This record gives sequence, structure tokens and C-alpha cells, in this order.
Amino acid sequence: MSRDGARDAFGLYLAVPFCRAKCSYCNFASGVFPAALQADYCRALLREIDLTLAALDLARPPVDTIYWGGGTPTLLAPEQIAALAAALRERFAIAPGAEFTVEAMPGTLPPAVLGALAAAGVNRVSLGVQSFVEAEARAVGRRQPPAAVLADLAHLRAAGIANVNLDLIAGLPRQTPASWRTSLAAAVAADAPHISIYMLEVDDDSRLGRELRAGGARYHAAAVPDDDAIAEQYETACALLARAGYRQYEISNFARPGGESRHNERYWLRRPYLGFGLDAHSFTGSERWGNAGGLDAYLAALAAGRLPRRERCALTPRMAREEALFLGLRRNAGVAAAAFAGFETALAELAAAGLLAAQGGRVALTPRGRLLSNEVFARFL
Ligand code: SF4
Repeated sequence: MSRDGARDAFGLYLAVPFCRAKCSYCNFASGVFPAALQADYCRALLREIDLTLAALDLARPPVDTIYWGGGTPTLLAPEQIAALAAALRERFAIAPGAEFTVEAMPGTLPPAVLGALAAAGVNRVSLGVQSFVEAEARAVGRRQPPAAVLADLAHLRAAGIANVNLDLIAGLPRQTPASWRTSLAAAVAADAPHISIYMLEVDDDSRLGRELRAGGARYHAAAVPDDDAIAEQYETACALLARAGYRQYEISNFARPGGESRHNERYWLRRPYLGFGLDAHSFTGSERWGNAGGLDAYLAALAAGRLPRRERCALTPRMAREEALFLGLRRNAGVAAAAFAGFETALAELAAAGLLAAQGGRVALTPRGRLLSNEVFARFL
């Protein structure tokens, strides 16, 4: 197996699945695992990287973006952060100026962790704020007071990491139009170069998802805004962030000039990436694969010297083309009109419905199309 096509550098994704508490809506491959497992997990990550590079016949391949997500990577001990970053530099030729992002839960950046991140070369931090309104954060099991975000931002800037993203969720239980505006105003006032707005997606198998399906009221299920209210909150965010100087460049992502996430852009532009860790995904240009989502299965596979693969798919030219359309359309820059050859009927119908618009030789989602993006994408599959 070898990387095909592009001479593109890779992006690296490392999943760190440890969390302090499990948020009620979340069913990611993450959990409140014993801290003692962190050392085992870090060893398994390095084993996986070595086995993968051997399987792909790659020696110190070039890398230009790194992203540690989770979970909560900032729950790793400072020495674990340092050792992992050093191991990546041994195994990959990391470009000078590479973007190196780490996700953090507000309140998980004590000075020793912050120092380890800065020393490791981390130059971007994504803070999972979700809400600046304490009652909303508590309703989904998050305990940080809004002041923790501002303190983290101040400490990050003092450490030289000014490139910060703030994640917010539209549609949290107990969220109202007024409280949503409070969160948006606080995010703008915090003056981070990047803000992500996600419309609440409750995983069916999360605690909140099971409660919603059962029609119960635990986990504030009865206080989840309906779909129309969530859509209105998303539109409020788009308008308010535009007025504040944030340019929307993807369905969920807004940035001041130059603040766009280079790592996330590679997903939508189908540039190659290697993902390591629980439930991590990889893409070489012609193949995709995903890892086991259970911690025990992941650790057991690597202890036995096996790659923890769960699924693998060789892309046909038709699949690659479909991906290029629906991933590219996520970006406000859209896709070259010529790429839609053969889809003229769908294109005309979606344009007539006000979901797609053509301009300057490119086709992009309209604001309404961004709200109904899954319906648009389905027409190109
Ligand atoms: S939303 Fe993030 S912090 Fe909350 S449980 Fe899921 S991975 Fe952990």
C-alpha cells in the first residue's frame, strides 16, 4: 500500500479520548477513563504510527498540519505531551510553520500543560466552549464557568498562542434566542481569530439522545430547542459574526482574515491525512480507513502488534468525484462549475429551489442551502 497521486504533505490527526465528564449529547469515542491508562494509550499511539508507516512504506513523510482532538488532549500529563510531540518530530518531516492545533476543554490549561504545549510547538488551540451561559453548560454536564474561557485565553496569549478557536453549539438545552446572543457577544468580545458554530446534533446513543427518543425529560431533554429554533439561532450567528468581521468560509466555520484552520481545510479539499488513536480516520487520496472505537479493542490490537482497523475502503473514481462535490460544497468558495458535468438536472433544480448559486465559474451553497446541506449533498450521491 502506498500513497498515490499527490505529492501533498500529510496532515496528522491524533485522537486523545480522555474526558473529565461525559457531555450528555456526546457519543464520540471518548470517556472518563482511568488516568492510569493514559501512559498505555500514548505507547499504543506510537506503536500504531510505526506499524502504519511500515505498512504504507513511508519513511519520515512530510507533514504540514497536526491536530490533536478528542476527548480532551490537555488532560495528558505535560511529560506525555512533550514525549508525543517529540515522537512525531522523529517520525515525520514536519514543515517549518506547520499548523499545530490542540483541542482543550476550558479550565484544562494549568501552567505546566500550557508550558508543555508551547514548548512542543503548538501554535493553535481550539477551546470547546459550547456556551458562555453557565446554566446551559451545566445542563449538558459541563462545569466550567464562563470566566474560565477568558482566563484560558489570557494565559494562551501570554504563552504566545494567540491563534485560538472558540466552539459554540446552537441548540443546547435551555438555550433561548437571548441566551444565544449572550454567548455570541461574549465570543466576539473575546476577540479570538476563529469561531466555530455547530448546530446541536444529539447522537442517538448518547444519554440525551436516548432520553429524547424515549420522550423523557432527564438531561433537560424537554428543554432542547426545536429544529426551527436551532436554524434561526444558526442564522443569527451568521449575521452577527459577519457584522463583527468574521468571514464564513465553511458551513460551521468563521474566521478573521488569515485565521482559517488549515488542517480542517484539508478534509474538505481532500488532501491526505493520517489519523491515529481511537476512532481516528485516514485518507491517502485513493483509500480511506477508520480505527476501532472501543478503548479495550484499540489497546488489545496494538498490544498484539495489529493495526486497529475497523473499516477500509478503496475509492472508485465515481466515489472520489462524489466526495469532491459534497466536501467541496461545504466551503463558501464552493466547487468549480465544470465539476458538475452530468449533474445538470440536479444543479438546475437546486438552484431553482434557492439552495445552490453559481457565480464566477463556481457553484456554492446559498445561506438557505447551508441550512439544508444534507439534502443538497444527497443529490450528488
Ligand atoms: S463533547 Fe468533548 S468533552 Fe464532552 S464528552 Fe464529548 S469528547 Fe468529551
